[in-house]
Amino acid sequence: MRPFKYTNAKDVPSALKLAAGNPNARFLAGGTNLLDLMKEDVERPDELIDITRLGLTQIKATGSGGISIGGLGRNTDAANHPLVRQHYPLLSQAILAGASGQIRNMATNGGNLLQRTRCPYFYDVAMPCNKREPGSGCGAMEGINRMHAIFGWSEKCIAVFPSDMAVALAALDAVVKITNASGEERVVDFADFHRLPGDMPEKDTNLSHGDLITSIEIPKNNLADHSYYLKVRDRASYAFALVSVAAAFEMKGNLISKVRIAMGGVAHKPWRAMKAEQMLIGKEPTEANFKLAANAEMADAKPLEHNKFKVELGSRSIVRALQMALNGGKS
Ligand code: SF4
Repeated sequence: MRPFKYTNAKDVPSALKLAAGNPNARFLAGGTNLLDLMKEDVERPDELIDITRLGLTQIKATGSGGISIGGLGRNTDAANHPLVRQHYPLLSQAILAGASGQIRNMATNGGNLLQRTRCPYFYDVAMPCNKREPGSGCGAMEGINRMHAIFGWSEKCIAVFPSDMAVALAALDAVVKITNASGEERVVDFADFHRLPGDMPEKDTNLSHGDLITSIEIPKNNLADHSYYLKVRDRASYAFALVSVAAAFEMKGNLISKVRIAMGGVAHKPWRAMKAEQMLIGKEPTEANFKLAANAEMADAKPLEHNKFKVELGSRSIVRALQMALNGGKS
């Protein structure tokens, strides 16, 4: 690991000022991904600004009936909070499907959104990787790409985004509240927070240097009765998704009146299954309708040499998640 300076921010203004003063500094919160990347020589900040004492941990109801989750709160606390469990069980399930108990105890909510891909070529500094070193090539394109994207990839990068929490937040129409280095606040729709790789795979998000995630807000909804997070992975725990699906819907009579479906493990960002959603509005929640919607969504997939299985797996996972949601999360 390269030498770096450690500074301890006392409050938000001092954290922002420290970041503004050094373009090579990084905020340090839970450190569950950043420190690994520094040890592997992938991330090379020359200063870490510890932001763990800024507060920003509160989980509370918003005036409009939604929920606000502090950017520096721990994943475990978000997953177990009564408001989250009661009104947004999809989010609780997704967080608990990620990582291990020890990591969830350390990882913060903002940090979860900023974790980097687990593409093995990104972690191996002996291999070409446009995300780590722009212009060097993509080791995965002609390499082992079983875990990689089937939607929205580019010739520059085929990586997937690893977070489970973010998939649920995408389905729940969350917004991210950010304060920039000048102290200005802005609100970003979740769909605009992460990026597809395009020509700049080194940029995972639309954040700028010095931007601090202060909270994540989810609007009020009536999706809790019919929601489910399904994660398909190579082993039962502590593994990243091959495919995951956050599915939730509302019923009016015997018809679906509102539906949200997002997928993980398939793209460089949480993938909203808009085609499937559109096909299900006004339909009965039958297996046949779920299959039609899932197949329509997956028809646009562009699999790589080793991940063709994700197309069928994705389709079946959407159907399964919707069925589980229909039954209130019970099989
Ligand atoms: Fe790097 Fe992306 Fe290629 Fe992986 S898929 S090697 S992260 S450029």
